[in-house]
Amino acid sequence: MTHGVSSATAHWRQALALLGLCACLHAQARGPFDRASGPFELHSQINPATAGNQVALTLDACSGAYDADLIDFLIRNRIPATIFATKKWLDKNPQGVAVLKANLDLFDIENHGENHIPAVIGAGKKVYGIPGQPDVLHLRKEVQEGAKAVEAMTGVAPRWYRGATAEYDQQAIDEIARMGYKIAGFSVNADAGASLKKPQVMARMQQVRGGDVVIAHMNKPPSDTAEGLSATLLALVRRGLVFVRLDQVDLVNVK
Ligand SMILES: [Zn+2]
Repeated sequence: MTHGVSSATAHWRQALALLGLCACLHAQARGPFDRASGPFELHSQINPATAGNQVALTLDACSGAYDADLIDFLIRNRIPATIFATKKWLDKNPQGVAVLKANLDLFDIENHGENHIPAVIGAGKKVYGIPGQPDVLHLRKEVQEGAKAVEAMTGVAPRWYRGATAEYDQQAIDEIARMGYKIAGFSVNADAGASLKKPQVMARMQQVRGGDVVIAHMNKPPSDTAEGLSATLLALVRRGLVFVRLDQVDLVNVK
């Protein structure tokens, strides 16, 4: 069940190299579970005991705008997804929130934090140049305020958390777990932060297999993410893959 991970990792390295993010490339080369040495990506798949042909599509709404093309495509084709939204995004995108609220049978809204601050703790710690949290109290506030915003929108308390940049340090992971949240990693990075062109998104999506957790973004309408996903999702369905939400499955962490 490591196909998606190795594929995602290879593509991720390629994308980082293209972006010139050498420091992050180096971090990736250390491996996601080298927890003593700084931020790492958390890689997850649907529990293999129950996964079968199930795939979880997860879409981050970090800050920025609302990708109506992507959400409209999912609604039109009845493809469920889990949306990781920040309070910041929810506050700024009432039109998008209205559409999501009208389709809560399709979309599971989960917690991406209050202000999109990475879940790494300590003065000076950064992920992709974005400063993390100075201390545990700030991390708790980021998680709690994000959760409150999601619950205010949906009426349902979120159970999953994904930190900004999807990288963590061990202290943050432990604290988020203590707060009662499950952390959603991923196994296929479909759009590298909505930075990839349509053919690259398509190439990654074509490698999706049963058990994969796909990460992409719904906050950058000018990007190629919607086009790349729209061009491949129905083919995955025709292949027999079944899209599920994270409130329907459990994940296991993998290397
Ligand atoms: Zn994000």
